Amino acid sequence: MQPTSWIELSRKALRHNVQVLRSASESGGRRPLLCTMVKGNAYGHGLEPVARELVAAGVPWLGTCDLREIEELRQKGLPAALYNVGWLPPDHAARAVQLDARLVVYDEAVVAACSEAARLAGLRANLHVKVETGNNRQGLRHDDAVRMAVRIGRDPHLRLEGLSTHFADVEDTTDHRFARAQLERFETTAAAVRTALGLPPAGHPDDHLLCHASNTAAVLLWPEVCGGLVRAGIGVYGLWPSKETRLSASELGRRHLELQPVLTWKARIAQLRDVPTGEYVGYGRTFRTVRPTRLALLPIGYYDGYDRGLSNLGQVLVCGQRARVIGRVAMNIVTVDVTDCPQVAVGDEAVLLGAQAARDGEGDRISADEMAGWLGTIHYEVTTRLGQHLPRVVVQ
Ligand SMILES: *Cc1c(COP(=O)(O)O)cnc(C)c1O
Repeated sequence: MQPTSWIELSRKALRHNVQVLRSASESGGRRPLLCTMVKGNAYGHGLEPVARELVAAGVPWLGTCDLREIEELRQKGLPAALYNVGWLPPDHAARAVQLDARLVVYDEAVVAACSEAARLAGLRANLHVKVETGNNRQGLRHDDAVRMAVRIGRDPHLRLEGLSTHFADVEDTTDHRFARAQLERFETTAAAVRTALGLPPAGHPDDHLLCHASNTAAVLLWPEVCGGLVRAGIGVYGLWPSKETRLSASELGRRHLELQPVLTWKARIAQLRDVPTGEYVGYGRTFRTVRPTRLALLPIGYYDGYDRGLSNLGQVLVCGQRARVIGRVAMNIVTVDVTDCPQVAVGDEAVLLGAQAARDGEGDRISADEMAGWLGTIHYEVTTRLGQHLPRVVVQ
């Protein structure tokens, strides 16, 4: 049975993007571990199918945000290291350690719970201390970060596997002085941790401490700062972090970088109706026809992640060309104007996000960026909001 609305994931695009990120992060003979972020239901693309495809493409680490995601990936038996970036309260952290997840830490209660859980399970918990360098979200300032790293390094049930920080401002600007300053602070703290624990310096053959700061934007712009691991999210899905990042990349001469969007969201046309001039459409009568109009009803709505803000504003692709959303987006119905596409039939595919070919071979694309622009938000929000219930299908 074919679903009424579904999401297609392109394996080819995903593999291409992994390759781009991998080669972008390699410089001067260093090959950082690639941790692809699958938090937020793989940025809305679907946790399980995306994780499976990434592992099959040789990605060694996956980045999660909570215990639910860790549990799901472990249940599916995927052979990847799991690195959790989100907040886990002590009882969740203990469970995550039992599931062999690696955790970012910045809180003594969580570290103590990890140590105890590891002792009971006869394992060593792998922890990464988060260093505060300018974002003021998670993380400890220099002295506290060094103290926690030393405490972990001396605990027989724990391993200080890494140090991390997160940029406040790589993708929102083409001026990267603040990010550079964050990186300097991070390097100062990392050097102090190495000294305090008697660890070899960065780059030494016996150096096993993973220092990591890079998200997608930093990977694309600064291969030289990738450290032992990179945490790439949005780029994996074929989306540039922002226009500014794209501009910076071209200023740095990295024009050859090309990402391919992975996701296409489709729905079958549920109904067609012809209405005369002067008829209202939908709740609140916010639209009135100004010509004899053919309406197509799509069996999706804000429940599925098609934002109500797209009422009388969004566009979808039908027969490879744009059809305007008219009237209000309802919970489970969106109405579009297909008057200019007379060959359309019930059951035909409409594309809400992604590309569609026309019969003559041309076609069009609605990108997550474009939709984000209509809504005054960012593409990260557009894709992560896609309903978890929509079936995800991997296509070649
Ligand atoms: C989500 C996340 C990333 C990935 O950011 P992108 O811009 O999607 O590449 C990296 N690091 C941390 C800590 C994150 O939470």
